[in-house]
Amino acid sequence: MKRRDFVKNTGLFLTTAALSGYSTNVIGKNKKGSILVLGAGFAGLAAAHLLIQNGFNVTIIEARNRTGGRVFTYNIQDNLTVELGAEWVGASHERILALCKQFGLSLQEHRFKEEAFIHGSRYKHSYQANWTKKYEGLLSAYRQMSEKEKQKLDSLDWWRYLVNNGIEEEDLLIKELLDSTDFGESIRFVSADMAMGEYAESSPDNEMDFKIIGGNSKLTEAFVQKIGLKNIKLEHVVTKIEQGKYGVKVTCANGSAFTADKIICTLPTYAISKIQWLPELPESKQKAINALQYARIYKNQLLFGSRFWERENFAMITDLLGQYFFHTTQKQNAVQGVLTSYSIGDKAMTLGSMNESLRKTLLENDVNTMLNTNQKIQKYVGYYWGADKFTQGAYAVYGKEQWYSIRPILKKPFGNIFFAGEHIAEWQGFMEGAINTGEEAAQNIIS
Ligand SMILES: Cc1cc2nc3c(=O)[nH]c(=O)nc-3n(C[C@H](O)[C@H](O)[C@H](O)COP(=O)(O)OP(=O)(O)OC[C@H]3O[C@@H](n4cnc5c(N)ncnc54)[C@H](O)[C@@H]3O)c2cc1C
Repeated sequence: MKRRDFVKNTGLFLTTAALSGYSTNVIGKNKKGSILVLGAGFAGLAAAHLLIQNGFNVTIIEARNRTGGRVFTYNIQDNLTVELGAEWVGASHERILALCKQFGLSLQEHRFKEEAFIHGSRYKHSYQANWTKKYEGLLSAYRQMSEKEKQKLDSLDWWRYLVNNGIEEEDLLIKELLDSTDFGESIRFVSADMAMGEYAESSPDNEMDFKIIGGNSKLTEAFVQKIGLKNIKLEHVVTKIEQGKYGVKVTCANGSAFTADKIICTLPTYAISKIQWLPELPESKQKAINALQYARIYKNQLLFGSRFWERENFAMITDLLGQYFFHTTQKQNAVQGVLTSYSIGDKAMTLGSMNESLRKTLLENDVNTMLNTNQKIQKYVGYYWGADKFTQGAYAVYGKEQWYSIRPILKKPFGNIFFAGEHIAEWQGFMEGAINTGEEAAQNIIS
């Protein structure tokens, strides 16, 4: 996830045009043109919303039987919602905050006070004083760095950078456990520049600030209402994309085909790689697609009959399989409560490969061990993004020497096809980034 110097221009081109009365014709031409948007995640929904506001005919083509993509709220029981995908809305995420306001959606604070359970015991963790001082110096130096200096930093991984700057063993372990939850993989695989961007330029709580009341899918619902469900083709897996002088053609696994003037493709790179492209994608783009990895994250939701943890904003970083536990149903009115286990990398894959009964037993054991209790999970639901059919990961992880080399290539339009999605966003790895790129691609077509 990366905070860059995002040009705050996304709000400037929005019109206040009423949304009713636009053509429902899938591929019909109007004065502005017809656009196919591939994917009904936040990038696709934001793109379609903006295009429709500006008078285009838009059809969204979505593989799943639901909209929202990696934003996936689940009602675990009456009055209790959990997020199987994106959890936090960041305090610096201006566009998503503006959209929530525009659509009348309220946010609640979703911050946590965390402790640590490491080497078999629980403690209030703090870094050594000399490291804290050194780290603050590194962060403030980063804020002054030129683009060239940042590119130099990008040649190191985050683990190596911390080691080279003298972090000691125990502090390094905590950094590994905590920071890897931000990137979804070990900090040994994350660019030092990406990590610095994240920690030097984010809100004080690292963009883990709010959530939408009722679940983040409320924003999906609001988008869908504005776009019109009739303009979204669910359960249509794109398998072929052709373009020529006539425009573009998209064919789906179920045999249906759509033609239009232009495409906005918001699919994750794995999905892009599974499509037959005619003509073929440029070799540089194919290489970039093959180079980018996505994080393996398993979100496990553990419903308990009571909130036996001491406080509503409870969170614990651990060296257990479940890794990071937090009380995701804080401020939701019920006797029961849900602890989320957020597990990454190899741990997530291990949890993902076992059967549900064993996974539940191990996670229950983690909770009872760290809280020295003997509670039973009443209901379990989890989602392993590392095996998601269309993404094969939670969000992109830029390793060393990738951000400045492959991201511009992934972003580049190809004929009448424009690209969007969190993986190419300045706010990479966030809902905000997905929205920004969707609106940016739409704006490229509008202007
Ligand atoms: C576990 C997890 C935790 C996260 N935590 C946060 C967080 O706390 N805060 C935050 O801001 N963000 C978070 N994110 C990231 C956030 O969810 C994403 O950045 C954002 O939702 C991505 O939107 P997108 O539109 O780029 O991609 P997607 O949401 O993936 O949308 C792409 C769409 O394309 C569809 N598709 C794929 N292949 C095809 C095909 N062949 N044909 C047709 N359709 C296809 C997919 O089904 C999907 O709906 C998290 C994500 C995950 C998974």
